[in-house]
Amino acid sequence: MAKETKYIFVVGGVISGVGKGITASSLGLILKNRGLKVSAIKIDPYINVDAGTMNPTEHGEVFVLNDGDETDQDMGNYERFLDIDLTRINYMTTGRVYQSVINKERNLEYKGRCVEVVPDIPLEVINRIKIATEKSDADVMIVEIGGTVGEYQNILFLEAARMMKIKNPKDVFFIMVSYMPTPSKIGEMKTKPTQYAVRTLNSSGIQPDMLIARADTVLDQKRKEKISLICNIPHDRVISAPDVSSVYDIPLNFEEEKLSDQLCELIGVTCKPEDKKAWSAWKKFAKHAHNGKEVVNIAIVGKYFETGDYMLSDSYLSVIEAIKYSAYALDRKPVISWLNSVDFEKNPQKLKDLKNYDGVVVPGGFGSRGVEGKLKVVEYARKNKIPYFGLCYGMQMMVIEYARNVLGLKDANTKEVNPNSKNIVIDVMESQKENLKNNSYGGSMRLGGYKAMLTPKSLASMAYGKKEVVERHRHRYEVNPNYIKDLEEAGLVFSGRSPDGSLMEIAELPKSEHPFFLGTQFHPEFLARPLNPHPLFSAFVKACVGKK
Ligand code: GLN
Repeated sequence: MAKETKYIFVVGGVISGVGKGITASSLGLILKNRGLKVSAIKIDPYINVDAGTMNPTEHGEVFVLNDGDETDQDMGNYERFLDIDLTRINYMTTGRVYQSVINKERNLEYKGRCVEVVPDIPLEVINRIKIATEKSDADVMIVEIGGTVGEYQNILFLEAARMMKIKNPKDVFFIMVSYMPTPSKIGEMKTKPTQYAVRTLNSSGIQPDMLIARADTVLDQKRKEKISLICNIPHDRVISAPDVSSVYDIPLNFEEEKLSDQLCELIGVTCKPEDKKAWSAWKKFAKHAHNGKEVVNIAIVGKYFETGDYMLSDSYLSVIEAIKYSAYALDRKPVISWLNSVDFEKNPQKLKDLKNYDGVVVPGGFGSRGVEGKLKVVEYARKNKIPYFGLCYGMQMMVIEYARNVLGLKDANTKEVNPNSKNIVIDVMESQKENLKNNSYGGSMRLGGYKAMLTPKSLASMAYGKKEVVERHRHRYEVNPNYIKDLEEAGLVFSGRSPDGSLMEIAELPKSEHPFFLGTQFHPEFLARPLNPHPLFSAFVKACVGKK
């Protein structure tokens, strides 16, 4: 390799879900701000080859990359914080690693020798890390190992990291992001679980170089010293990361402690002075989370919220972030409410509550549960001129609702919900029929970046200020071409189409009819970036604000 890339492995201690991905993204951002080229890899230790086959309430949002890979939401965090586009090689799962080892074995690439879990699995992990590094030409590659130390699942990934360290001790570093609970009955922050976590990591032959202490509050001096002494980490490399109200403050908080200096020293690179312009832009952006005076109230109507007795907003993470960026740019404080589409089926009276919101988003979805509720919401938003933004399934709902209530095709539906309907206005794409017939569901949707051509003077083209765009997709169904003419004659405008004109990418009503009634077959939320809000989200939020 021409360049001596530095590898920072980020591992979790004690419990997951304490923001390891956000922490790692923030570390990346502060290094980027010191002139280093930073890229990231996410490792998920499950057997699934990708995140695409998992229910969002199991694993949060499925984040789609430009090349169509269906990945973990942390990939979205890296793309957003670092403002980079990642590719398939930046994401790996146990399933993916085993799959390629087994394929290589079947192709005789191991030249007849016995292929073993150790070292062949870790070697494949290392191989993937190297390819990703070469492709990104990064000075610093952040490798986040999912889960927490001590799980069986991630041992082979830790083994790969250990092997990399022994070969290149000056280039490989470990940061543990660990959780310090403060049990309410005790009222005191406890470091013991973290001590155990570090010991467990030690038993894999790895010593963390730095420890980031996630906790409700700031880690005090006494605990810092204790962790330093017992966990064998220099005192100034035990970093406090208390809860914050906005994740975009985290890099700023880190830099208050001059963490980038320490990181550069740790990894042995001389870095440039901070990029003042970029940093002040981030500061300005992050401030918006706290000082937007006027509120914009947006309802997200979906169904992937509940897990046991808890509500989970992770399923729509990119949608939420995209709304935030556009609201911040308009100096508004977004207040997002979760409405369960199923509730509108049980209780149609609830529709009136929609008047309390400045706008409604129906995000992506699958299957029949909650669909009738979503359709009622779309109808209500259309008739009451409440700004409406439909993302993928939300666009398909728009088309079904229009077919039912404007074209008068009462049983209009998507084949996904009712294959026996006489009016299948949303049909399986031709290219998908074979996949469904063969039960071939994994990674087989129409995925990733595809071009859409925009109709001049439409809402969409005015918002983008462009004639064509590339947006990320994840769908199997499409507007049935047989109904396009009728829908258009009834007033629905298809303002975005695939280059050959066959696939409807955007549907909208003209501004004279409705302040904002627009849906996309693609997922614009995946392209929204903190300092570069998505034009369609911005047009939607503008319409929401204008409604007041
Ligand atoms: N279920 C729909 C389809 O497959 C929509 C998918 C989505 O919303 N991502 O076409």
